[in-house]
Amino acid sequence: MQNFIRPIAGIFFGVAAITMNAADSDSRYASWPDYQGDDLELMVDNAGTHFTLWSPEAKAAEVLLYPTDRNSAPVDTLHMTKGENGTWRASVPQKLLGKFYTFRVDAGHGFMAETPGVWAKAVGTNGRRAAIIDMSATDPEGWSNDRGPQTAAITDAVIYEMHHRDFSIHPSSGIVHKGKFLAMTENGTSNDSGAPTGLDHLRELGITHVHILPSYDYNSVDEANLPANEYNWGYDPYNYNAPEGSYSTDPSDPSVRIREMKEMVKALHDAGIGVIMDVVYNHTANNDDSNFSLTAPGYFYRHRPDGSYSDASGCGNETASERRMMSDFIVNSVKYWAKEFHIDGFRFDLMGIHDIETMNRVARELKEINPSIFVYGEGWTAGDSPLPAEQRALKENVARMTGIAVFSDDLRDAVKGHYSNAADRGFATGKPGNEETVKIGIVAATAHPQVDYSKGNNSRFAYASAPTQIINYVSCHDDLSLTDKLAASMPDASEADRQRAARLAQTIVFTSQGTPFMFAGEEVFRNKKGIHNTYRSPDSVNAIDWNLKTSNAEQFNYYRELIRLRNGHPAFRMTTAEDIARNLVFDSIASPNVISYSLKNNANGDSFKEIKIVFNGSDIPFAARIPRGEWTVIARDGQINADGLDTSRGGTVVVAPVSALILGRTR
Ligand code: CA
Repeated sequence: MQNFIRPIAGIFFGVAAITMNAADSDSRYASWPDYQGDDLELMVDNAGTHFTLWSPEAKAAEVLLYPTDRNSAPVDTLHMTKGENGTWRASVPQKLLGKFYTFRVDAGHGFMAETPGVWAKAVGTNGRRAAIIDMSATDPEGWSNDRGPQTAAITDAVIYEMHHRDFSIHPSSGIVHKGKFLAMTENGTSNDSGAPTGLDHLRELGITHVHILPSYDYNSVDEANLPANEYNWGYDPYNYNAPEGSYSTDPSDPSVRIREMKEMVKALHDAGIGVIMDVVYNHTANNDDSNFSLTAPGYFYRHRPDGSYSDASGCGNETASERRMMSDFIVNSVKYWAKEFHIDGFRFDLMGIHDIETMNRVARELKEINPSIFVYGEGWTAGDSPLPAEQRALKENVARMTGIAVFSDDLRDAVKGHYSNAADRGFATGKPGNEETVKIGIVAATAHPQVDYSKGNNSRFAYASAPTQIINYVSCHDDLSLTDKLAASMPDASEADRQRAARLAQTIVFTSQGTPFMFAGEEVFRNKKGIHNTYRSPDSVNAIDWNLKTSNAEQFNYYRELIRLRNGHPAFRMTTAEDIARNLVFDSIASPNVISYSLKNNANGDSFKEIKIVFNGSDIPFAARIPRGEWTVIARDGQINADGLDTSRGGTVVVAPVSALILGRTR
């Protein structure tokens, strides 16, 4: 999500102790009964249609039945009767397939506004009414045999973060279903010069997983007015368990968005690519009129002592994962997406708002469904929270979350300069003093005898217990794109020099231990017109112009080879801190903006006995001392070929300014 008020990690530790009492004002919720049944809200079976709402303090509850998704009066109202464990129930003997419903709850002050509930899995236009459909009829052909890629460790993944509209909306995409889930089902698409786009582009690039920005039903884009071409990232959740309607070809038909999202997943799976969903359980778009509030007012959120919503999300509220029914909601929701939509991973927005125990449940229960499912998130909050810092799923606490990875802001800011200070430079753009922090990224924030964490810019200790807990990146949807960051911080440099800096920056990401992550379109040097927070900017800002793939063909080729290098060499993908400490050896270098290291001992089963890597982020050539041997030159002077550009016998090898040297030898 937009992170304009993202804190430097740890900044809230000091105030957490003072605000802990805030949780006390919410202590009454501890006495609310939990409901563990799997039939919440809607169940259709041979005995009819059954509604079960959890709302322990409600005075009355009703179900309203509708013939259509909007613009119609209810055809029936069912009075719900109080059941066990805080539930309210109503049943009819018919299967109400094709009908729509809402709930209405009286929490003591008369009936509140209608809500589709918190568990609506099928919804109509703008998600205002839930739908009763035959879910099995939404499965595309071959769905029962659909499988995502089997990936032994998250460090084997190359993650490509994309927004549906960014990826396909530009005329140059050549895609028919622009801005839709179906865009990623089209084969044989190309730009104006015939270069592959869409699914074919992803295959060619070699990424292993697509990470789609929020694709549950969010609040902002008016699904009743799609010709208006509204844009939003989607960090404004409305219905957590139904797909977003504006990405479907018909938001009014509840089955269509479900079927089309499954078709997208299947097409990506058929191409060998996994699908990761960005999930935003930390806050909702609305406060008092959210589906949580209209169902069981108060319970799902944290509050300040004065009763107001606390706001660790910076978006007006924060959810309360430490409460059993909210924790269950998060766990059961991701499990639903994993089972029904075959999702291969989840990226948790502002994960630091959630409690560690819930996140560990998420990872554990997902891996029981599919061991290849990944979980990672933003290990920070955007404001203070009543949840004590030691309970938060923060970056600093990731060692207590075995199956979960966090984004490394260490490498990100050290390589390209501070994320919010546009003019600030980093290691790859000539600013000295970032070397040790880049090294923290290279070893994936694990303990290493040659890394001095006291010199870290953002982190002062080895917070990861394994490289599988770190996501390395230099840009994502947030903040300036890498292209724009380089333009802002290198205003006098040529486009060619900025592309060169981008190559060095991404070479550091893709050769580092941990999991590499990139923002869609960087491989063609896309920009966002210099705008930091483009969460609702028009397509003219956010769309990827795929003709850049032709005009920046060398840039694309560099990325493709870089990814091929990583995918072909397990030395870049070690899975334990011990392996890294043993096999990754830094050279002692006194020159600023130069880092040199080796991956030794056929690390992690690599075909290379040794890989030598030298990064030169300075503006002067660096004379590297390479041991004598029969080396394959993989990268040099802004060029790369995973199979080798050349050979070298070692000795003094000059590393040109703003470039990476990568050599490998088999003996
Ligand atoms: Ca929506």
